[in-house]
Amino acid sequence: MNLPQPPRRPAPLAAWIAIALLLAGVLGALAGHAALSVALAGLCAIAVLLARVHRLNVRVDNKRFVPDARYRRLRRRTRQLSQQLHALRNAANSVHDAAVLLDGTGRVIWFNRAAGELLGLRRTQDRLVVLSERLRESTLGPWLESGAAKALNDVPAPNRPAVRLGAAMVPFGRHQRLLLARDISDLMRLEQVRQDFVANVSHELRTPLTVIHGYLELLDPQEQPELASVIGEMRVQSERMAQIVEDLLMLSRLETHQPLKEERVSMRALLATLRKEALALSKGRHAIDLQQRTDTDLYGSTRELHSAFSNLVSNAVRYTPTGGRITLIWERTGDGGARFTVEDTGYGIPANHLARLTERFYRVSSSRSRETGGTGLGLSIVKHVLNRHQSQLHIESEPGRGSSFSCSFGSMRLMHPEQAES
Ligand code: ADP
Repeated sequence: MNLPQPPRRPAPLAAWIAIALLLAGVLGALAGHAALSVALAGLCAIAVLLARVHRLNVRVDNKRFVPDARYRRLRRRTRQLSQQLHALRNAANSVHDAAVLLDGTGRVIWFNRAAGELLGLRRTQDRLVVLSERLRESTLGPWLESGAAKALNDVPAPNRPAVRLGAAMVPFGRHQRLLLARDISDLMRLEQVRQDFVANVSHELRTPLTVIHGYLELLDPQEQPELASVIGEMRVQSERMAQIVEDLLMLSRLETHQPLKEERVSMRALLATLRKEALALSKGRHAIDLQQRTDTDLYGSTRELHSAFSNLVSNAVRYTPTGGRITLIWERTGDGGARFTVEDTGYGIPANHLARLTERFYRVSSSRSRETGGTGLGLSIVKHVLNRHQSQLHIESEPGRGSSFSCSFGSMRLMHPEQAES
């Protein structure tokens, strides 16, 4: 980095005055004013002298520029800053995550070495290019174009589909943004191994469990009264295991990102089925209320949506004591979408548990979940199904008063009565 030069002095006023006086003196002589001309020539000579002295001073200053304390401090600080900048650049270049600094218009101001490797940016050509245009061909292009508000997970790296990336945009300063991208290929491979393992184990357990269950059904407790309680318990537990296996298989199917089998989902029929299921599960212990406030249908997978909604209904029945009320509501929302809500007057959930409820096997009370035949996978299935339908789960709950689980759907997921399925 260059040090600032000592300041240059402007051309002295005396030089300009000397030129003006000289011209005036010449004009005076031409006009025959000898005295005036002599006076002006004298003044001109003084001005030239002053200008000369000034020039001499500047030259002397320039030649012998002796830095004062302030200048030395400035020079030291500049050197320190330059070293820090160098160290920062080296540090940024040594990290494995790609970092690209963008200005307010999305142009590349700077990027580190990893950005060259992961995003294919070239050091000289790609400075000041608009990044969304440069990466147009990859998944990152449209994402950048749309504002990159939400982080991206598991997308192929530009020109290297085997490399999987996670990417996020961090705004900072005045309209500047930092794109961060990370190679998550190893993580995705591990995730795949986990998914395959769960799917395979669940699949392998299914057949032996069906056989055990079948034999248990053949055993008549009345024929062996001394074993009646044992047989009863074995039946309950084998049913529970079968349900866990079915839920795990369902989750595995949802995770494989298979395309959604989309169709018109008749909400009238689905709500009627859910009500019937709630009545069967409740066995008369609760008041079940259905409020269908709109004729609008959904567009999605009937099978998956039925599974998600019936998990919510079954939870409401299982976590509401006898005498409670369960209400199913299907209604339009102010933003043009629609919402399915299951309300109950049950035990409720303390606020500190709400954020983790959709994790696999997360339970507020394991004993209550087990007693009521829960697997701890229901809300996880709900979350996956809703994600596949671009819908969100919203939970409100108050211990001792009850809970409300709502699934909100955007207008693009709605089918109105007059609308035919294309
Ligand atoms: P489970 O099979 O244990 O019910 P879920 O994933 O469906 O598993 O639910 C996770 C946990 O959330 C449950 O164990 C329960 O503690 C809590 N929960 C879910 N729904 C309700 C509800 N309507 N009222 C109270 N607690 C609930």
